[in-house]
Amino acid sequence: MIVLDRVSKRYAGDVVALDDVSLRVGYGELVAIVGPSGSGKSTMLHLIGTLDRPSSGTVHVDGYDAAKLSDRELSALRATRIGFVFQQFHLAPGVPVVDNVADGLLYSGVPRRRRRERAEAALVRVGLGHRLGHRPHELSGGERQRVAVARAVVGEPAVLLADEPTGNLDSSSGAGVLELLHDLHRAGTTVVVITHDREIAESLPRRVRMRDGAVRHDSVFAPGEVG
Ligand code: ADP
Repeated sequence: MIVLDRVSKRYAGDVVALDDVSLRVGYGELVAIVGPSGSGKSTMLHLIGTLDRPSSGTVHVDGYDAAKLSDRELSALRATRIGFVFQQFHLAPGVPVVDNVADGLLYSGVPRRRRRERAEAALVRVGLGHRLGHRPHELSGGERQRVAVARAVVGEPAVLLADEPTGNLDSSSGAGVLELLHDLHRAGTTVVVITHDREIAESLPRRVRMRDGAVRHDSVFAPGEVG
């Protein structure tokens, strides 16, 4: 699903955010990316999500070499195959949640009416079928993040990328969002999640530990095994 081959990312001022990283994530995996602040986790997720291009090395997503696609083709790849969830939910304020979610299909060629139906189904899937007309400010943090997850998966992406999705949530809301990621994984979606939360990381079957822009450990655990 995801292949990074010798990927580096440098920013102006000699910042090396990623240094020669190679990583493979198979179809249907659930992977935690962990490591201290500044270790390159978000940079790596952005490159996997084709939101940014590497300084060197190659990124393949679902068989596509990101460097060989035009900006337009990359947008289409993101719209149809990749879902994103961020720490700060990024919902449109004042807009009913069903429309927030339907907007996740704006660039996928789905007709308006069908977008709404699919948004409703996605909200039911995340347990918010009774909140369709609510505005984001009328929901709790945990519910807002569920809306963000619904928006990310409404297009049925092959991969869901989540950057600290529970970072702004209390532990019980965070646990609910985590359970949702497990549900999506069980349904076949590949999920890559950055987390600072040890407990969350330890509940996931594979952990990639970053430090100073490099992958330091990459471990796969059997369910229930303590890592
Ligand atoms: P993490 O997600 O692990 O906290 P990041 O990937 O955000 O780490 O950052 C890795 C390094 O790259 C840090 O030193 C950070 O300051 C730097 N960096 C990230 N984004 C940019 C940017 N747009 N411009 C310059 N430096 C950046």
